[in-house]
Formats: sequence, structure tokens, C-alpha cells
Amino acid sequence: MARLNSHYAALHGSYLFSEIAGRIQSHTVANPGRKLIRLGIGDVTQPLVPAVVAALSMAVTEQGTPEGFRGYGPEQGYGFLREAIARSCYDGLGISPDDIFVSDGAKCDIGNFQEVFSRSCRVAITDPVYPVYADSNVMAGRAGRMQKNGRYAKLIYLPCTAENGFIPELPGERPDIIYLCSPNNPTGTALRREHLARWVAYAREREAVILFDAAYEGYIRSKDVPHSIYEIEGADEVAVEFRSYSKSAGFTGLRCGFAVIPASARGKGAFGRHVPLREFWLRRQTTKYNGCPYIVQRAAEAVHSPKGRAQTRAAIDVYMDNAARIRQAFMDLGLAVFGGVDAPYVWVALPTGTDSWDFFDRLLREIDVVGTPGSGFGPCGQGYFRFTGFGSPEDTREAATRIKSLKV
Ligand code: PLP
Repeated sequence: MARLNSHYAALHGSYLFSEIAGRIQSHTVANPGRKLIRLGIGDVTQPLVPAVVAALSMAVTEQGTPEGFRGYGPEQGYGFLREAIARSCYDGLGISPDDIFVSDGAKCDIGNFQEVFSRSCRVAITDPVYPVYADSNVMAGRAGRMQKNGRYAKLIYLPCTAENGFIPELPGERPDIIYLCSPNNPTGTALRREHLARWVAYAREREAVILFDAAYEGYIRSKDVPHSIYEIEGADEVAVEFRSYSKSAGFTGLRCGFAVIPASARGKGAFGRHVPLREFWLRRQTTKYNGCPYIVQRAAEAVHSPKGRAQTRAAIDVYMDNAARIRQAFMDLGLAVFGGVDAPYVWVALPTGTDSWDFFDRLLREIDVVGTPGSGFGPCGQGYFRFTGFGSPEDTREAATRIKSLKV
């Protein structure tokens, strides 16, 4: 019988969202007829905007004609989309269409990218963290065993707490690969220019690579929060950036994202030779990936059009209004609240000594509202709770009223 990848056995317990689903299921069976409001899982609720729908339908029609039909596309993505991205997201930052690799979403890219690195690389992640960074490295055998303290033995953890404003500090141990996410899921906080500059300088000095997850770039409002890591000088040599249309344009079902790998970003190859990271990623993608669908890439292109930008911005505004409403509800309860300003996530500090899962159960039992326990994102998330602004405005308004009725 084929031996299985033993590293999978090192993966930590159950997936956070299946545990949540289980508890919701028991609650609804025990309490039929009560209206549950879900502000937990991070899926969007606003429909695709008209500019995207029009581009999508046009591309579908095109595919049904002999002249317009397209089969396999370029693995790196169609030129029309890569050009639109370079122009609309990276104008003046020295990023060219050749640096852009279109895909079916940021999760796959981020999960897969670690494959181009040696198994011996040391990996740094924040705590709390978007679980993909940790789990994909566990599967690859880079993380070691889960310890009693809820951390993998070989990963380098960057604690993010209220004390450091959820800004990861430079580690004592030298990592080869550093995952940064800004605006951050789950804490909703964002790295300002000075923070990002410190990390880029560190990566350059220590010859590390930063894998920069900018899936929530579209939510940035503050002037001193960079939209791209390439706004920091020298980042092109040490950073790969990941973006997604999921949360910025409602593509969670349609699926499209991209990675930016400047020609100057390098890793150490055989005999210590400095090899462009892009060569390895291109080899990986051409071997294992056959490209994002043409119709989806046309839809993504439309996001960058003037109409597409305005319409998607309006949808993001809806989510940000929701986030502001949730923020206010918890502030009215006298709790410390983070995030929700440059991100759709609101990170609530629970009253001292409150366990995140206990609070989850209490919210469900008392006001039928679902959120996500902070401890599900790492030990430093204990005592915190995450809400998303992705619900409908009506549900969010009602949830805010219910939240204000809580006794804390
Ligand atoms: N990165 C972060 C931080 C996310 O929260 C998400 C989605 O929830 C993704 C990436 C995944 O994006 P995509 O839908 O493009 O795979």
C-alpha cells in the first residue's frame, strides 16, 4: 500500500471552521426558529458588480463563436490582464506585466509558493496567523511537531498582541522565509510604511524572502499604509506579493488572484548561485497549473476599468460600514477594539480572563451571533474574537443591536 505523507499527521487538530460549523449545527438543532447571524466566516455577500458581469457575459459569448473561442491560455495569465494589473496597481513602482503571474486565487499561490524553497528553510509566521502559511509548511515538513504550547517546534513565531499594536517585531532567530499579511487577517490591523520598511531592510540584511499577502489591499484607507510592498525601496529584491480579487471584487466563487515576482527577487540555487525566484515559480506553474479561465480573466480585467473600480469600491464601502458598526457596538460595551479601519476584520479584546471559545458559545447562546474565536488563529489570539464586515448591512445592523444588549 502506498505510504502517505507523514507530515500531514503533524497538522494541528481540526480545521477551525469545521469546529465552528459543528457548534452552530448543535445550536440550531437545539434552538429551532431562532435567527442566527453569521459574522464569522470571511465570505463576501454583495453580488458581482455590473462591469464584471458585462465582461464575463461578453467573454462567454465570445467563447461560443469559432473566432472567439480560446482553449488553454498562457500559464502566466493573458497579457491583457497582466498589463491592466501593472498599470492600475503598480504604476510608478517598477513592476512590469512580466512580473505578474495570474492564478485562480491567492490561497493556492500562497499555499503552493513554499514549494520553490528547500525543505531546510526556516519559516517565520505571525501569531495569530492566517492558517495557510503555517499548514502548507507543515505539509512540506518544515514545521516539526506541534508542541504543548500550541506552536510548531521549527517555525519562528512573531507574536502580535495589543502590547505591540499587532505589529510583528523582528525575530531573534534568522528566518529564510517571512510571511507578512497586511491589512491583516485576523487582527484587521495594517503595517504602516515605517513598519514595512523595517521588515524590508531586515530581509535584505539577512537575505530572507518576504511573502507578502495583500489580499485586503482594497480596504486600505489610511494614507501611511502602503498598498504594495514595492512602495518600499529595495523590496523588489526580497519580496513576492500576493493579491486576490476575492474580497476586493467578490470573486470568492469566480476565483482569480495573482502573484508579483520581480525579476530582481532571488533565492540561493545550486553552488550558491543567485537564481531569480520567478524562474522556479514559472517552472512550477507550467508543470502543475494550466491557467485561470479566460472568461474569469476578462472579468478581472474589468475590475481595473474606471467603472469596475468605482463599482467595486462601493461594495467595499458597504463592508467597511458594517465593520465600523461592529466596532462601535463593542466600543459601546467598553471593550478594546482593533482593526476595521483598513480591513474588513474587527478584532475584539475580550474582558480579562475570557476564553475565546467560551465567548463564542456565549454569543451563540445569548444573542445567536456567530464570530470566530481568536485562539483558532494561534495561541496569541486567545482572549480575542474576530468579526467580519462581510455580512449584509441588515444582518450587521441587527447583530450590532444584539451585541449592545450583552452584559460584559
Ligand atoms: N489571504 C488571506 C489573508 C485571506 O484571508 C484569504 C481569504 O480569506 C486569502 C488569502 C485567499 O484568497 P483567495 O480567495 O484569492 O484564495
